[in-house]
Amino acid sequence: MAKKAIVKKAASKKSPKGKGSRSKLREFFTLNVGKILDSNTLRKVAGKSEWGRRVRELRNEEGMNIVTHNDRSDLKPGQYLLIDLKPLPAFERGISKETRAFVLDRNGFTCQMCGAAAGEIHPYDAGRKTRLHLGHIIDKSMGGTDDPGNLRAICSVCNEGASNLTLNRPEAIKLIAQVRRAPSKDQIDILNWLVTKFPKQASELTTEKK
Ligand SMILES: [Zn+2]
Repeated sequence: MAKKAIVKKAASKKSPKGKGSRSKLREFFTLNVGKILDSNTLRKVAGKSEWGRRVRELRNEEGMNIVTHNDRSDLKPGQYLLIDLKPLPAFERGISKETRAFVLDRNGFTCQMCGAAAGEIHPYDAGRKTRLHLGHIIDKSMGGTDDPGNLRAICSVCNEGASNLTLNRPEAIKLIAQVRRAPSKDQIDILNWLVTKFPKQASELTTEKK
């Protein structure tokens, strides 16, 4: 009995209180899989003000699949959701929030394999909204790094089937061939999309021709 008390004291000295609220939050999320939880509830569960940091630890260090409004457009700021009990792929855990935001922004919040946009209904799986992960361009087993240059946005649909698919994007020449074959209406849709995406380049091109 005395021995037990000493162990407990040593453990609490090593990580003061933080470990306790992290455990409480872990348990609470696990009991509420699939339910949207708000920040007031989580603050009460954690019993202290640093609950936000503890939630980030659960996500980044333990790989819990907790999403926020940054991941899903249907969530409001301050809402948190544990999607399922399956841990996130290990590669995402060590990647900083800043790197993640940088890569997603660079990729236009669009899956680099199928073109699905974050938060929108997935084109190949109408039952769910597109959720983006970070994937390695060169796999870590092949010597790829966690450097932003080796990361890209991949949706969960492509991510799940990614191991058996080629990770290469179609080459520009093949894309142009496809666009050439498309009906004019589709070509105009593509043109509109490109002009919206690249307004500066589009106006430079049109003024050069005048
Ligand atoms: Zn995809």
